[in-house]
Amino acid sequence: MIVVMEPTATKEQVNAIIERVEAVGCKTHPIIGAERTVIGVIGDGRVIDARQIGRMIGVETVMPISKPYKGASREFKPQDTIIQVGNVTIGGKELVMMAGPCSVEGRSQLLEVAHACKEAGAHILRGGAYKPRSSPYSFQGLGEEGLRYLAEAREATGMPVITEVMEPALVPLVCDYADILQVGARNMQNYALLNAIGKSGHPVLLKRSFSGTIEEWLMSAEYILSHGNNNVMLCERGIRANETETRNTLDISAVPVIKHLSHLPIIVDPSHATGKWEYVGATSKAAVAAGADGVILEVHPKPDEAWSDGRQSLKPEKYAALVQEMRAVALAVGRSVPSNQTTIGQNGHGKRPLLVPTP
Ligand code: PEP
Ligand code: MN
Repeated sequence: MIVVMEPTATKEQVNAIIERVEAVGCKTHPIIGAERTVIGVIGDGRVIDARQIGRMIGVETVMPISKPYKGASREFKPQDTIIQVGNVTIGGKELVMMAGPCSVEGRSQLLEVAHACKEAGAHILRGGAYKPRSSPYSFQGLGEEGLRYLAEAREATGMPVITEVMEPALVPLVCDYADILQVGARNMQNYALLNAIGKSGHPVLLKRSFSGTIEEWLMSAEYILSHGNNNVMLCERGIRANETETRNTLDISAVPVIKHLSHLPIIVDPSHATGKWEYVGATSKAAVAAGADGVILEVHPKPDEAWSDGRQSLKPEKYAALVQEMRAVALAVGRSVPSNQTTIGQNGHGKRPLLVPTP
């Protein structure tokens, strides 16, 4: 619910409300405005009596949050959420570029592509060490060895890293290496995983599932937020439609819909949305024009030889050209793309030191 305080309410009266609802295990988000204070309250509706709160001194009115996802809604928190990962700011005026290979295939492959992405202007390096493959016979990822290469690439380039985690038991290990966890489309409703990530407090990119509605997606974000982890960003990566020319169908309207319904940053993944590199440029620029806070793309030095998703991967020089085009679109819609020389250089949340001996 939203507790709207009277313009004359004192700090003590605001604190009394916060104490009262937090005492029964609810979470609060106070917004101190120039006119009045508004307190967002979420938790089990059975333990708070809205009428009792409405009778407390200084309260003007109490309104229910109409959406089933409470903490993720704009009603609860009208201002955009801004997430800081190292020196990179996600969800503000600046557009964030994330890029890297689908899979970490080895040390030299990752270092080569990481340097190329940095050169092209990327701020955050992506790479899968645990791969959610549709077939159990496909390459499943290098596991912890891949995480070590990611940590090494971060040290070499200064870019924070994002990588997927698929199992609750592996959350602590992946948190040790990665700055941002990724929840893949196949795991959007893996509630045990979402709970473990929520408890970790680690920044997370939550991908939309193939057939997930926006409401289901926001409910999944709510699982993470409900543990007090506010570092949640959403990722539109295409949904299933009846079209077969593209791997999925990019739901570009999800960007303004999310901006309307939620305060969480929204990143777009045109690589998985289209499945073909030829369509990645146009859809990336469309994502920026639509108001995305960032674009995550797959880049590989030799797409034909990639161990996964080569068909949708851009060569580094194509990626570099696209970054410049996205920059122009960003400027046209009132955003900017910071130089990665100023945004990188400080590790974010991955704590594990470099463990890979240099040959
Ligand atoms: C990926 O990022 O490589 C991936 C598997 O993405 P998705 O979960 O969107 O399919
Ligand atoms: Mn991929």
